[in-house]
Amino acid sequence: MAQTFHWQQTNTPLHISLAGGTLTLSFDGKVNLSFDGEGRLVGAFLEQITYRRALDNRILAKWIDAERAGRRQRRFLDEEERHSLLDRCYEMAADVAAGLTTGQLIPPANRPALDLIDEWLARVAGWDWPKLEAERTRFLDVYKPVPILPPDQYLSTVVQATEGCSYNRCTFCTFYQDRPFRIKTLPQLQNHLTAIEQFLGRGLTLRRGIFLADANAVIVAQRTLLPMLDAIAQKFAILPPDLPAEDRRRWQAGHPIHADGIYAFISAPDALHKTSADFADLRDRHLRRVYVGLESGHDPLRHFLAKPGRAADVLRAVETIKAGGVGVGLIAMIGVGGEIYREAHRRDTVALIERMPLDHNDILYLSPFVADAASPYAQDIESAEIEPMGEDAIEEEIGRFRSALKAWTQPRGVRFSTYDIREFIY
Ligand code: SF4
Repeated sequence: MAQTFHWQQTNTPLHISLAGGTLTLSFDGKVNLSFDGEGRLVGAFLEQITYRRALDNRILAKWIDAERAGRRQRRFLDEEERHSLLDRCYEMAADVAAGLTTGQLIPPANRPALDLIDEWLARVAGWDWPKLEAERTRFLDVYKPVPILPPDQYLSTVVQATEGCSYNRCTFCTFYQDRPFRIKTLPQLQNHLTAIEQFLGRGLTLRRGIFLADANAVIVAQRTLLPMLDAIAQKFAILPPDLPAEDRRRWQAGHPIHADGIYAFISAPDALHKTSADFADLRDRHLRRVYVGLESGHDPLRHFLAKPGRAADVLRAVETIKAGGVGVGLIAMIGVGGEIYREAHRRDTVALIERMPLDHNDILYLSPFVADAASPYAQDIESAEIEPMGEDAIEEEIGRFRSALKAWTQPRGVRFSTYDIREFIY
């Protein structure tokens, strides 16, 4: 809960909150700054712009474009902008620390956690631009760049048990072109886990789950994958599945820093190499949800995209995963294939989803398609003279998908969400 302080001279309020693994300073509700347990800036809100800082010190700015019907805009800041923003945020935090020391900042009467706030602000004061920039090198010593996560996993701890994508041929996807697929050995994974723990430090307290990366780590054979999940559970406390409410509360109280489960991407053909009993074994080792890129339920479009497997394989994969007690995040790309595929894509995708055994443990993601100009897809669509769908048309199409699926998702408690790859940051 936020504690409200006041600046002596102006009587303006400053809300300080220590919750969710972050220290948040909220200046009269107009400026918000959040820092992780190590004192690294995580996010900021200034002059109606939201900033998210990645662990490698990139910063994504997001704002609502008033001139374009309230549409969200976003872009990564350049070096000069990042430097200036970070200096500004850290100066504001230093002013708060000084205000507490000099008595210029008056605490509320109910004795807030001043010691904890002072300690946290002291850690914030340990950072400056060169140190924050140096985080990129530290990050790249621990991780290969993390190009994408599902939106509900942005606050997970990424564990790269594998690197790259074992398929890597979908024409629209350039996420893992920079690396060959490889599976880490158990000792390599254990070293990686230790490096992650050291790098994140107290920042681990804001992490919610563990994301087993990269693109399809669950492809790993069970005899190798199970010890990998055990190694992760030995390093990080993970909430056991299916605890009764009272036991769950007791366990959480005993593990103030913990993950709520393990999550991963998986492609449908890879999922079909496992049985529902395999998924049940993975579930017993904390695998809580896997994210399946359906992209489309229309086979000709899947073929055009070189997506592996047929639509019916995705249905069978989801049935197998669910029968093992693991949740599913299903991703459909809206706007892919342009105008020519628009109707058939919606018709077959909606029909396929309506045959899936999804429930309240699952999420349905509608992802506005963003073509990468460097992808084979961009060339294919040009050679085939296919008219791409613009942002407005995609927005409208997302609305149609939602309307078409609403009557089916609502009674099942399936969550709907948007998956905009341009918003991703780790
Ligand atoms: S399977 Fe997924 S990660 Fe691999 S190329 Fe296709 S979309 Fe990209």
